[in-house]
Amino acid sequence: MMYAQGSDCAQPDVERGSVMNTHEIKDLLGASFACACGRTHETHFSRMILEKGAIRQIPGLLQELGKSHPYLICDTHTCEACAKDVFAVLDAAGCSFEKIILESPKVGDLPADEYAFGSVCMAFPKETDLVISIGTGTINDLGRYLSYITGLPFMLVLTAPSMDGCVSGVAPLIQNHMKITFPAHAPIALVGDLDVLAAAPMPMLSAGVGDILGKYNCLTDWKLSHLVNDEYYCETIEGIMRDAIDKTMQAAEHLTERKAEDVKTLTEGLVLSGMAMDFTGNSRPASGAEHHISHFFEMQFLFDGIPAVLHGTKVGIGTVMMLRLYNELAKMERPDFAALLAGIDRRPSFDEWAEEMNRVYRQGAPMIIALEKKAGKNDPEKLRKRLSKIEERWDLIQKLAASAPDASLIEDRLKALGAPVRPDQVGVSRQYVEDGILYAKELRDRYTILQFLWDIGKLDEMKELLLAAFA
Ligand SMILES: [Zn+2]
Ligand SMILES: [Zn+2]
Repeated sequence: MMYAQGSDCAQPDVERGSVMNTHEIKDLLGASFACACGRTHETHFSRMILEKGAIRQIPGLLQELGKSHPYLICDTHTCEACAKDVFAVLDAAGCSFEKIILESPKVGDLPADEYAFGSVCMAFPKETDLVISIGTGTINDLGRYLSYITGLPFMLVLTAPSMDGCVSGVAPLIQNHMKITFPAHAPIALVGDLDVLAAAPMPMLSAGVGDILGKYNCLTDWKLSHLVNDEYYCETIEGIMRDAIDKTMQAAEHLTERKAEDVKTLTEGLVLSGMAMDFTGNSRPASGAEHHISHFFEMQFLFDGIPAVLHGTKVGIGTVMMLRLYNELAKMERPDFAALLAGIDRRPSFDEWAEEMNRVYRQGAPMIIALEKKAGKNDPEKLRKRLSKIEERWDLIQKLAASAPDASLIEDRLKALGAPVRPDQVGVSRQYVEDGILYAKELRDRYTILQFLWDIGKLDEMKELLLAAFA
């Protein structure tokens, strides 16, 4: 099917002012709707071709978009998997195009760094009217950033359903051995050929599943922050995401058979995650502590020059760990809040904390310390305020924790796909696991289970429990 619901199309279900009661991606493309939460949600992502043989529709799509000088970016892996067929389709249709095929490393994936981006820029033809990335990860990030700085539109041809950043408006790139988020263009069109996606290596498919199952944790983190901080929260968006995760959980059961409909379900879930972020205007519906700990491991790998591990694989591992924390919270004794309040002044000072940040985050420490100066996540006054809310809403919080799935369920589903579920399986040392549990929360100003456990003075105890179980 061709999904194409731009603002100029009739959209009976998504008129401004209507309440969203569909969770189908085709109804949400390009949607703008007034929500029961009081906000109007919208996404500009509106064009997707997700079906078998989809790449054969690219010449027609270019014509429809009025583009005649596309610049195609791929690497040797994605060329073999898909781009060579795209070139053949374009040649056969008489479409002119320019391309660059970046050399993939022998081990691991091409990093989206200064060298790769420089190569893409040096081959950039000045008559280009559309940037097309053929690849899901690095190639996608390079293209969307090039598109942003040149002011040209961006189109994405997916090669594997391995991560959920496909339609986002930012590009994480490596600069000076640090991952930095750059502004970028979201794609004006996305092409996913189910024949190509279903043939992706199983670790990429299971990484996509890990990224989606992580939403079980991040949606719980979001609601936790709603309870503790009265943070804005939307049930409609949560419902859209929950449906997508539940469907992916089912599809994952037989994903090893590589059936087109299961791969389609997974891909739609990944795309929906990006759209859900558009709807809320932040990453809350798609990223929580499971992503923070994954980013933490990734940073350590970058600092140590260790080849990268797939994003969704690390998120899957983080999800199993973080859900275990919710499972523990569900059966935890009610804390002694008077003692917690009385003990606030005995917690580490800002300077002691900053010293730990220098040890753990190394060259990244200034960024982390600057964030804390601005956000004050660990500020005694803010902690005092949160503790009184937690005391008041303890029963609701435990009820929320009890609603999170059992970590072992997610673990089993990932294991059945051959995915790693423990940090050491992807080369994360025990020290990094320990530091990650304690300090991954410092990476973002986002309240999650990790900050919550720190608030109630349980993070050290839970760290020991996770280390015993997973490291
Ligand atoms: Zn809403
Ligand atoms: Zn992700």
